[in-house]
Amino acid sequence: MSSEDSQLTTPLSGTEARNGLSELMRGLTTGIAAPDQHSAVVPPLYLSTNYAFAGLDGRPAFDYSRGHNPTRDLLAEAMATLEHGSGATITSSGMAAITLLLETTVPIGGHVIAPHDCYGGTWRILDTWSQTGRLTVDWVDQTDLGGLKHALTSFDDAPVQTDLLLVETPSNPLLRITDIAEAARLGHAAGAVMAVDNTFCSPLLQHPLLLGADYVVASDTKFLNGHSDVVGGSVVSAAPERAERIAYMANVIGVTASPFDAWLTLRGLRTLDARIRVHADNTRRVVDTLLAHPAVSAVYWPGLPDHPGHDLAARQQDGPGSLLSFELNGGLDAVRRFLDGLRGFTLAESLGGVESLVCHPFSMTHAAMSEKAKADAGVTESMIRMSVGIEPAADLVACLTEALDRAAA
Ligand code: PLP
Repeated sequence: MSSEDSQLTTPLSGTEARNGLSELMRGLTTGIAAPDQHSAVVPPLYLSTNYAFAGLDGRPAFDYSRGHNPTRDLLAEAMATLEHGSGATITSSGMAAITLLLETTVPIGGHVIAPHDCYGGTWRILDTWSQTGRLTVDWVDQTDLGGLKHALTSFDDAPVQTDLLLVETPSNPLLRITDIAEAARLGHAAGAVMAVDNTFCSPLLQHPLLLGADYVVASDTKFLNGHSDVVGGSVVSAAPERAERIAYMANVIGVTASPFDAWLTLRGLRTLDARIRVHADNTRRVVDTLLAHPAVSAVYWPGLPDHPGHDLAARQQDGPGSLLSFELNGGLDAVRRFLDGLRGFTLAESLGGVESLVCHPFSMTHAAMSEKAKADAGVTESMIRMSVGIEPAADLVACLTEALDRAAA
């Protein structure tokens, strides 16, 4: 065997072998053939809830799984690497991640700025907690930076100190784009910490921490796991002391993920790069089909030059993503005809899985929002949101055309 061959057969393990590799490569291969795994290529799953102490002097590296677990910590390491953060905590859901972020960064009676068109569950926790007096919340169209700047220091016409500026970009379901770097600058100037919900892009398409955010939160349920068989979340922090505080609070309130869910998510993460590329190709085909069909009155996708956030998305993201929304001529009746007999796309909430999904935000994902909040956010009855999967593109186009023809009839 030549020396070149022997280099090629050197296992990718240990810090030395991984030095010099990209964050993407290191993140996606975290734990592969690690030296402490009996030569197992794939990291084992540690289900044990507790770990033995050798004696009374000194704690073991792991003691009780609510705080830390070897499998979950491996996923945390992968997420911190992919997001360019200094540490991550893996939670039992995306909402647990948002709850953890709020508990850690917002004191009792503190003030939060959130997008007026944020995910319905985020809207619900902030609305509920504002009603119980836990915090105050201002819903802001964050694409309007002047309005955002004003809102950071003034609430209900009185001066306010904002504790947390929460950004969600692209937004759900209209895919509005917020300027992360500018929002971080404005938030910090006002003394707030700034977090970005990176669920829609994943670290493959957007790096909020490199643009100045203090935290990234995500629903790992979506692209990160990618196979629609885990509900999970993560909080990644830019600064080590913030990462430590988040990990501490996660143990205090008990929102960490189960090891098995973490193991599945780590398995899903292995193919994230490959999946995102097929999602992207398929989405272009789907968008072309929608644009060409008379049943469709509007398409919201940042990849389109007439989308208001197109230029910003082109600068800030590494691709427009595979989430889009569109409106049908003919209102709710047309939506019913589109869905009745739909093949190839499943009517379901969630997004970012290998399978193509459609949902009706008005009555499904955003149902918890008040009629006024929906109207403010632009969520109409004739809107359909789509998460384009990785199935054969020709089949997706055929099924979509069939459904659009029905909607137009
Ligand atoms: N953030 C965004 C943007 C979401 O779309 C979702 C869920 O759809 C969440 C957070 C909440 O995540 P989970 O459902 O994993 O709790």
